[in-house]
Amino acid sequence: MAIFISIVLIILSFVFLLARFGLESIIFTILSVINFYFITAFYLKTKELQVRMRQRMPEEVESLIENLSEKSGIDGLTGVFNRSSFDKYFSEVYRKFKINGELFFIVFFDIDHFKDFNDTYGHEAGDTVLRSFAQGIFNNIRKDEDRFFRFGGEEFVLIVRKCKVPLVQEAELIIKKLRKVVEDLTIPGLPKITCSIGVGFPDDVKNKQEILKEADENMYLAKENGRNRAYINKNTVII
Ligand code: GH3
Ligand code: MG
Ligand code: MG
Repeated sequence: MAIFISIVLIILSFVFLLARFGLESIIFTILSVINFYFITAFYLKTKELQVRMRQRMPEEVESLIENLSEKSGIDGLTGVFNRSSFDKYFSEVYRKFKINGELFFIVFFDIDHFKDFNDTYGHEAGDTVLRSFAQGIFNNIRKDEDRFFRFGGEEFVLIVRKCKVPLVQEAELIIKKLRKVVEDLTIPGLPKITCSIGVGFPDDVKNKQEILKEADENMYLAKENGRNRAYINKNTVII
C-alpha cells in the first residue's frame, strides 16, 4: 500500500513538473523518489526477514520440543523415557527391592550393526528405526508395571516389576515376546534390524551398578556369540 501511494506521488509530481516547471515541483519530485526508495527498501528487508524466520522456525521449534521433552523425562527422538528417568526409576525400584523385597529385573537392548545401518541408509533412516524400535517395544509392555527407557544412542533398557518367580522363566517369556516384536518390525524401504539382549537380576549382594553391569555383560555375550540373541544369564540363551 505504501509503495502504491509513493508511486502515485511520483506520477503526480511528474505531472506537476510537466505542467509548471518550478522549484517546488523539482523538490516534490526528489522527495517522492527518496520516499519511494526507502519504502521499497523497507518492504524488501521485511520480506527477507520473514523468509529467514520461516526457514529457522522448524529448527528452533524442534530443539525447543527436544529441550522440553528432556526436562519432562522423555527422550525427544523416540518418545520413551530418557536416561535420567531411568536413573531415578532404577533407584526407586532398587530401594523397594531392598526394603520390601519387591522383585524386578532389567533387560538391556542394543541394536546390532547400527553404525553400518546409518552409514548405508543415512542418519534420518537410522532415526526412523530408533523411533519404530522404541515404539514397538513400548506398545508391547505392561504399562502399569514395566517401564522402557532409551539408555543412550541405540541402547534401550526395560525394567520389569511385579515379576512372577522363577525370574529366569519370567524373563524368558517376556524376551521371547519382545524379540518377536523386533522381528516383525517393518519400515517401508528399509531392511529389518536385529538386537542383542542381556538381562540383569538383583540379589542380596549386588548393588545397582552391578545389576546394570550384569545386563551389559550378558548383552556383550550375545554380541560375541553372533548377535541377534538374548542372554538371560551365562548359561541361558534365546536365539
Ligand atoms: P554393535 O552391533 O556392536 O552394537 O555395532 P553398532 O554399530 O550398533 O555399535 P556402535 O557402538 O559401533 O555404533 C552405534 C551407532 O549408533 C553409532 C551412532 O552413529 C548410532 N547412533 C547413536 N545415536 C543415534 C541417533 O540418535 N540417531 C541415529 N541415526 N544413529 C545413532
Ligand atoms: Mg551400543
Ligand atoms: Mg549397537
